[in-house]
Amino acid sequence: MIRVEHLAKTYSNGPTVLTDVNTEIKRGEIISIIGPSGTGKSTFLRCLNLLEKPSDGKIWINEQDILDPKSDVNALRRKMGMVFQSFNLFEHMTVLGNLTIGPIKLLNASKEQAETRARELLKMVGLAAKENSFPDELSGGQQQRVAIARCLSMNPEIILFDEPTSALDPTMVSEVLSVIRTLAQEGMTMAIVTHEMKFARDVSTRIFYMDEGIIYEEGTPEEIFENPKREKTRAFIHRIRSFVYHIENNDYDFYDLQSKIEGFGAKHFFQAQEINNIQLIVEEIMQLCLKEGDVQERTETFNKSGGLELTLEYSEASSGVTINFIADKSLKTILNQTENSDGLSLAIISAMTDDLKETVVDDKVRLSMGLKR
Ligand code: ADP
Repeated sequence: MIRVEHLAKTYSNGPTVLTDVNTEIKRGEIISIIGPSGTGKSTFLRCLNLLEKPSDGKIWINEQDILDPKSDVNALRRKMGMVFQSFNLFEHMTVLGNLTIGPIKLLNASKEQAETRARELLKMVGLAAKENSFPDELSGGQQQRVAIARCLSMNPEIILFDEPTSALDPTMVSEVLSVIRTLAQEGMTMAIVTHEMKFARDVSTRIFYMDEGIIYEEGTPEEIFENPKREKTRAFIHRIRSFVYHIENNDYDFYDLQSKIEGFGAKHFFQAQEINNIQLIVEEIMQLCLKEGDVQERTETFNKSGGLELTLEYSEASSGVTINFIADKSLKTILNQTENSDGLSLAIISAMTDDLKETVVDDKVRLSMGLKR
């Protein structure tokens, strides 16, 4: 139904937001578009219905090239309804007026036809009793339901939702999402920019994660939410907050490192004992790297290898904390537990962590473990 190739958008005097978006949306699909703010999700939707002019690329709707100057843009646009964050209702018209003006003016419907259809739609969105109200007499959730009904009154083939619940009081989010769910069950094709992850997961046939100017990763809700393949998707889905500290050589500032760990832990409300445990684990690993066995040889190897990167990852979604040590492969034997004779350090580390594992990727070795909480 919609095909997009190499879509790019740079705002005049503004940022390059989209660099190379490629996709196809089929009839009946429900696509949720997720990703951090400012990654062009809204711009992408607005390019689809030409509210923004793409800088480059091609868009076909039902095999018609919509950027071809010969295309009837208005007719194409009518096939695509759009629901905005801020409702955009006509304030001076009643609810019924809002729903009938489009069909009467643009679809040549008679007043009776338009009103009959409007009442059906109002019933569907639960607002049959409000046809004579003005928008400012309605709550935000009700106004957004009117906006959805108004959009449906034009018989669109696809509806684009641009963060339809983000301007709403939290108590009103679910009434709007329920209406969108009903449309989904009826088979309406939809593309929805949303921050409501649970909703996106339940309702969508496919998820686009946008970042870096492209559809960075796409997949079924299960693929994206259970098993995201790429680093940024993973960080976004698990709402991972991370802390990185580079230990360059054996003269690193031990107290600075310990206090930064404490700061990161405090910021994310770790318990004092958990912060202590992380500090102790880091200290033990550094012991293994630098202080055990043939001290001088180890220190030299360590310093020559470029040191070690410590990352702490805290997932707001699962509350899990992962501790990673990433170093040059030449430190593998130092990090490698089996080759280490010091049972005590390892016993301490294993008592405080789960899932201790070492992996080698390219020329780096990564030792990672989950903190027991
Ligand atoms: P998202 O929907 O992912 O939050 P947007 O598409 O709204 O992202 O915005 C992407 C970037 O484009 C932002 O940096 C935003 O400031 C910029 N932007 C959006 N609209 C305009 C505009 N009309 N003119 C200039 N810059 C814009």
